[in-house]
Amino acid sequence: MIKNIIFLGAPGVGKGTIASLLSQKTDLIHLSTGEIFRAAIRNKTKLGLELKNIVESGNYVPDEITNAIVEEKIKELNSKNINFILDGYPRTINQANFLDNLESANISKVILLTAPNEIIIQRLSKRRYCPTCSATYHLDFKPSKKINLCENDDTLLLQRKDDEEESIVRRLEVYNSETKVLVDFYKEKKILIEIEATQSPEEIVNYLLKQK
Ligand code: ADP
Repeated sequence: MIKNIIFLGAPGVGKGTIASLLSQKTDLIHLSTGEIFRAAIRNKTKLGLELKNIVESGNYVPDEITNAIVEEKIKELNSKNINFILDGYPRTINQANFLDNLESANISKVILLTAPNEIIIQRLSKRRYCPTCSATYHLDFKPSKKINLCENDDTLLLQRKDDEEESIVRRLEVYNSETKVLVDFYKEKKILIEIEATQSPEEIVNYLLKQK
């Protein structure tokens, strides 16, 4: 079975959806740095207040902060022999090098998800989420059966601040300038698997489950 893995790809390509489905079908823990930051913002912690503007405008959190958070989580999981999926980390060369030097990380594969830009923009701009249980919906592709309420807990669905148009444009720019280089970084290490994310999450997860 696949061990510690990374999901790499542009914002909106479906990393979160696929990682969450894969973790439900395996013993892998889903670790999303974006979720960690959003939870801190929601709970108005010191970290959350510091990062709110950065995250909501679509920019990257400073590497020192992100690396320290991930290191702590990975060390904890490693001490319990739990394998993980990293969703949204690493996102810069500095983060990739940091992870590389982290003995407890031991990454087996990097899954690169790809999709055309038009699809990415369409997915992000019509995405909605539940602030109570974090379930995500899409106005066209996965509408809630309860219209604008969450199917699980009837909470009013919201749009992420960074899914507003201005931030989407910024996130794609930052992805292209900071994160795309990681594709070559992992290609050279010969652990990259590229998957077209236009397939359904179920198809992608079934494919991943067959990987050694
Ligand atoms: P998406 O992949 O759709 O952009 P995420 O939930 O992964 O969404 O991330 C949301 C935001 O959280 C990012 O735009 C960024 O501000 C911050 N963030 C998440 N992961 C990182 C990271 N590894 N380094 C820096 N910032 C991050």
